[in-house]
Amino acid sequence: MSIKAENIKYIYSEGTPFRTVALDNISIEVKEGDFLGIIGHTGSGKSTLIQLFNGLEKPTEGKIIVDEITVGEDKKLLSKVRQTVGLVFQYPEYQLFEETVAKDVAFGPMNLKLPQDEIDKRVRESLELVGFNFNKIKDASPFDLSGGQKRRVAIAGVLAMKPNYLVLDEPTAGLDPAGRNDLFEKIKTLHKKANVTVILVSHSMEDIAKLVNRVIVLYKGKIHMEGTPKE
Ligand code: ATP
Ligand code: MG
Repeated sequence: MSIKAENIKYIYSEGTPFRTVALDNISIEVKEGDFLGIIGHTGSGKSTLIQLFNGLEKPTEGKIIVDEITVGEDKKLLSKVRQTVGLVFQYPEYQLFEETVAKDVAFGPMNLKLPQDEIDKRVRESLELVGFNFNKIKDASPFDLSGGQKRRVAIAGVLAMKPNYLVLDEPTAGLDPAGRNDLFEKIKTLHKKANVTVILVSHSMEDIAKLVNRVIVLYKGKIHMEGTPKE
């Protein structure tokens, strides 16, 4: 099982003066169990790339294959891809819209039409996995939380879908060093305990070097380097 990107090209606003080649000839494979970092300057294409991974966007050229499903080939399988590749956005507040934390985390499993007791179980488990006390947090309004807490609720919402891959776009943006370390500890535990393959996007190598075991460096939409953090 893996996510494969084969000769991906992604162009924004094709046919207009604002045409931007965001990704150019990208081929990578993310294998189950990986802890992959994707780094690069602002505008290098990181967010665009991971949005292709879960079918949110379609590549202009090339193929994305998620656990054997070629994304976009069969529209009926798109929701399966979304569930398999859990994406936490760069701005997670876009993922929070219900009046309580518990409802927000339940949103995904409800869409999967799971039985209510399974939904309740997943909501509790996911919130605990990201380090919340379930009873304390469940009725809180997501809008009253701090940036780091909002991000953890968004991660819990994705985990409640039991994804094979957890993709986090700049998860430490807006956090202080203590908040960042705390979140990274939680992600490390998730990788081990929830047995989930993690893809972490960051603008800086320093930020993620201690966490990931493989890094891809994007530069202007191309793969500039690939290797271990040490390399
Ligand atoms: P950052 O570190 O700032 O989040 P990034 O590496 O995630 O940057 P992307 O957001 O993937 O970069 O953007 C890649 C390129 O595509 C940039 O040149 C950007 O201007 C362009 N781009 C991104 N989103 C759009 C859009 N919705 N419409 C047009 N161009 C876009
Ligand atoms: Mg981005």
